[in-house]
Amino acid sequence: VAVSALLFTGAAEVVTCAGPSHQQVRTDVTILVQNGRVTGIGERHSLEAVAPDAQRVDCAGMLITPGFVDSHTHSVFGGWRAPEYALRCRGVPYMEIARRGGGINASVRDVRERTEDELAELTRARLDLMLQAGTTTAEVKSGYGLDTQTELKQLRVIRRLQGTVPLDLVPTFLGAHEFPLEYRADRDRYVDLLVDEMIPAVAAEGLAVFCDVFMEPGVFTAAQTRRVLEAGLSNGLLPKLHADELENSGAAELAVEVGAVSADHLGAVSELGVAALAASATVATLLPATLLFLGKKQYAPARRLLDAGATVALATDFNPGSAPTPSMPLVLTLACSLMGMDPLEAIVAATAGGARALRLTDGTGTLQPGAPADLAIWDLADHRELPYRFGAAPLHAVWKAGALVHSRL
Ligand SMILES: [Zn+2]
Repeated sequence: VAVSALLFTGAAEVVTCAGPSHQQVRTDVTILVQNGRVTGIGERHSLEAVAPDAQRVDCAGMLITPGFVDSHTHSVFGGWRAPEYALRCRGVPYMEIARRGGGINASVRDVRERTEDELAELTRARLDLMLQAGTTTAEVKSGYGLDTQTELKQLRVIRRLQGTVPLDLVPTFLGAHEFPLEYRADRDRYVDLLVDEMIPAVAAEGLAVFCDVFMEPGVFTAAQTRRVLEAGLSNGLLPKLHADELENSGAAELAVEVGAVSADHLGAVSELGVAALAASATVATLLPATLLFLGKKQYAPARRLLDAGATVALATDFNPGSAPTPSMPLVLTLACSLMGMDPLEAIVAATAGGARALRLTDGTGTLQPGAPADLAIWDLADHRELPYRFGAAPLHAVWKAGALVHSRL
């Protein structure tokens, strides 16, 4: 239960993720929270005068950041796929793994067989892992159903959990994640099903904010992608796109052309794609954990995107096949060590950038007056230690809308 007024005092650093970059790391400041929102950041005595009865939260020597906004996850799934990982580590190709019943179709079979109750409990536990790594807002996609009934089941799981878990959830319809086995021989008929049946059904129940497509050579073509995203738009679902993950196919440019809210992955984006993103409002969402886990050597050109002026977000891509990690701190390390991002840039991309990628305009992902009081408090004195102490960033506590929702003690 949220206390009506709180003062977070004594922090070594507060990263606001708002305003000009030279003002985003504040020292010697107190945060005032009233009724679940930040109402002041500044000098302690003046804020104490505003709210003399506020409960004090001692943050002596610690780092405060906004809670992470993980804007790309596939958290509704059945079992993990570790046996398949072991095969992949020994060099068995993905096509052979798929032939043996692994790959994405293993997750599709699994999710089709589970009840909504079962999936909800599995997903709740995974969201808790995300919370324990500092995430307070998460996008969650469907895409392991690939038939109308199961896609709706996945989205109903997300809706059911919204309000009963301490994270805010943003649902995305990803029926165009892959072609189900039963439509492999007639792919355009599956696109018909997406456009004529699934998208209208999702919209009728109000189950998703976004509509996403996996555009990649061998999966959805440009023409199929455009049909699905346009059907989404005419049903009120905003476009997102899995774009240029492993091979370039002009997906970033297509994302910009259709006005996608974000283009995600971009491991193989072209120079034209970088320029198109930089000149647009489409957020470039980078998912380095996936490429690391797949053993790839080529990462998205974060530095070129940032220098060209693109808005960059960082997310986990949490899923049982290519990124079984709920950890945004790990993603920060990969962004800095492998993609040349500065620690502050990475923290901003993982908070305010994620909020941009989800069209959240209420200050989520920042600490400034009016923003929701979503705070991650780290047992660190310097924000650069957050990516630097990789694999073990010590999270002290998490507050969501002014309520303590996770504590190490
Ligand atoms: Zn994805």
